[in-house]
Amino acid sequence: MSENKNDITRRHFLKDGLWAASLVGVGSVAGFQLNKSRKNNTVWQIDPYVCIACGNCATYCVLEESAVKCVHAFPVCGYCTICFGFFGPEPVDINEGAENQLCPTGAIKRKFIEEPYYEYTIDESLCIGCGKCVKGCNTFGNGALFLQVRHDRCLNCNECAIAAACPSQAFRRVPADKPYLLKRVDHT
Ligand code: SF4
Ligand code: SF4
Ligand code: SF4
Repeated sequence: MSENKNDITRRHFLKDGLWAASLVGVGSVAGFQLNKSRKNNTVWQIDPYVCIACGNCATYCVLEESAVKCVHAFPVCGYCTICFGFFGPEPVDINEGAENQLCPTGAIKRKFIEEPYYEYTIDESLCIGCGKCVKGCNTFGNGALFLQVRHDRCLNCNECAIAAACPSQAFRRVPADKPYLLKRVDHT
């Protein structure tokens, strides 16, 4: 059955609106780090196309709670009913029960939008940056979930402890006025 045009338009509007909202969230923290990075006008960031979600971001940061968090690129997301970033490899059922979830802290929220689409959002206060969801989404899904250094948390260490432990050299310094490396629909 062909898709109703209004449904498609509505869904695209929804995706674009959510993505814009997430950018506002990212942009709102950029001001914090500008003060912290005056020394060299650069900050640490993860290239999401190089990161292999090894798990080190959760454990190597000098902060007790890592400065790295999961971010969701809504325009890249398929709004899948079965999300490989949300569900563990062998879920008991396809619902939000804790026993079905991959995330160890329950940081990903799943909400029904319209048949057959579900929206997934990250509660950053719960995310520990382990990258388990990122690996699942990158392996079996569209790769909409990725890790970023959040600059409202990062100390902008001269030598980032995670960068030193990163097996794929995904960390690099970026200009402080463009502190995030986001995933894009048109990336090749
Ligand atoms: S699986 Fe890990 S990286 Fe993904 S949302 Fe949960 S805590 Fe964050
Ligand atoms: S620069 Fe320091 S605070 Fe920031 S992510 Fe790296 S180790 Fe953590
Ligand atoms: S240490 Fe590097 S490869 Fe591992 S999760 Fe962090 S950025 Fe990705």
